Amino acid sequence: MFNIVEIYLDKENYQQKVIPSDYIENYLGGRGLGARLFVDYCDPTITPENSPVFFLTGPMCLSKAPLTGRFHSVFKSPLTNTIFDSSCGGKAGYYLKSQGIDSIVLLGKANSNKVIYISDGKVCFENLSLRGIEVSRREKTLKEKYGDDTSIILIGPSAENGVLFANSSCDRRFFGRGGLGYLLAQKGVTAIVVKMSKKDEKISDENKFEFVKNEIKKWIHGNPITSKGLPDFGTSVLMNLINELSILPHKNFKENHFDNADLISGETLKKYVKKRRACLSCPVACGRVTEKGEGPEFETLWALGANLGLSSIELLMELNELCYEYGVDTISLGGSIACYIEAKNLNFGDEKTVYSLIEKTLNAEGEGKLISKGSLRLAKELKKPELSMTVKGLELPAYHPKGIYGMSLAYGTSNRGACHLRAYMVAVEVLGIPKLQNRFIKKGKSGLVIYLQNSHSSADSSIFCRFLSLAVGDDYLARLISAYTGLNLSTEDYLKIGERIYNLERYINCQIGFGRKDDLLPERLMFDGYEDMLEEYYRGRGWDSNGIPRKEKLEELKIECL
Ligand code: SF4
Repeated sequence: MFNIVEIYLDKENYQQKVIPSDYIENYLGGRGLGARLFVDYCDPTITPENSPVFFLTGPMCLSKAPLTGRFHSVFKSPLTNTIFDSSCGGKAGYYLKSQGIDSIVLLGKANSNKVIYISDGKVCFENLSLRGIEVSRREKTLKEKYGDDTSIILIGPSAENGVLFANSSCDRRFFGRGGLGYLLAQKGVTAIVVKMSKKDEKISDENKFEFVKNEIKKWIHGNPITSKGLPDFGTSVLMNLINELSILPHKNFKENHFDNADLISGETLKKYVKKRRACLSCPVACGRVTEKGEGPEFETLWALGANLGLSSIELLMELNELCYEYGVDTISLGGSIACYIEAKNLNFGDEKTVYSLIEKTLNAEGEGKLISKGSLRLAKELKKPELSMTVKGLELPAYHPKGIYGMSLAYGTSNRGACHLRAYMVAVEVLGIPKLQNRFIKKGKSGLVIYLQNSHSSADSSIFCRFLSLAVGDDYLARLISAYTGLNLSTEDYLKIGERIYNLERYINCQIGFGRKDDLLPERLMFDGYEDMLEEYYRGRGWDSNGIPRKEKLEELKIECL
């Protein structure tokens, strides 16, 4: 039996409820379950500030199988106004599950700043403001108070300063995108402290589970990316490759190549790495720790480096640490500053200017107050909406759409705005996983995008790390879940669940008012044939010409809640 603890912030009480078993059969957990519960708990047109915020574990959470130690949050994003999900590699999900709690939902708003303490299945509320204090000191203060056997979901000063893309962290891993930190601050939640416990789970078929788990380990060890590239260089192993292919955006996507990319690459960063960091039960350990603190990820090195024209790796490490301490999504930060620099005719690559803009944005002061609203709002305010490199209000990540057409369609049709992780087409169009596809081909590409969107939706709902799918196919993942939970999923069932989740999220967004107009790319990034790709995609999905799922499609997928 899967359960949810409803936490009423205004009344300071809580209750545990059982989640119907068909929700788990149809949506698994994590992202998918969050979308299904979202419909039960609110009208999709609710304001983000009033929307419920879910934290969800998944069916594999206690399994200790490789790359399964993550958990999810689902909420309505203040940045995009869409339903939004975000995944984090901290231990709080595992600790919740170790207390017998499968998911929690925050409802209403607290009257003053609160720390929520969850221990032995009980929830306590404590008044505590840590306003203005950086994230690492907050964590230290809370660990001293509640003990080292806790995992803490935290916000930073930027969330309290009203930065719309403020993130939330847990054990130095992140709910990066979409503004979860901002929402928690709006709800008066300073931190959620989760105590470790010892509850175990019965494995449905232990022998089969051990067998499939060991097979998966072999695939991970045999794959050059998960056994060499990511462990040795972290995610920034991609920097030089993406630049060589001329798809590394530079100067707010005006250009697609950065001459100094090698200076901020994984190879250069390696000299500064003191140790690697891993999410729970992950042998890959793609995170870096440098002498300046948390090591920057590829997306951060690109967003604050290549896109803004900065080429000092030492400065980027310092900025990364600053962003960690304030708690912001570095992709949206970099995208918003790039937009501002272009709109105001400032100089890309000017270290002093960029540093000052970042500091002001983290504090939402001076011109940083406008930048802290994200590039869509700031570009509109400056009467230059064409300079915002966003889809559905979310800043684009590090792959230039004009050189990787499948990825561009994935950006456009992503349910949470421009995101590379809803369908990681880089695997297919750059890395050749499972087989290299020509990145400039448009016709027929939509089928791959749809397949990956469905597959990734199931993976996010099982709480698998995205990088697991670089090494292991859906068939193994379906067998792993089946052996552990007894759900008995075929590969087809597993992908059908993903399709159901994607359609439900899309339908929720359509109810909010999203449609075809929101699936287009910024004018600067549009190319001939994009709209044909979009039409082919809608047909493949069984949606109408405005991108709305047809009734027959929803019925076929048994999306009964709408
Ligand atoms: S590969 Fe990286 S992101 Fe994925 S689980 Fe491992 S450490 Fe976390």
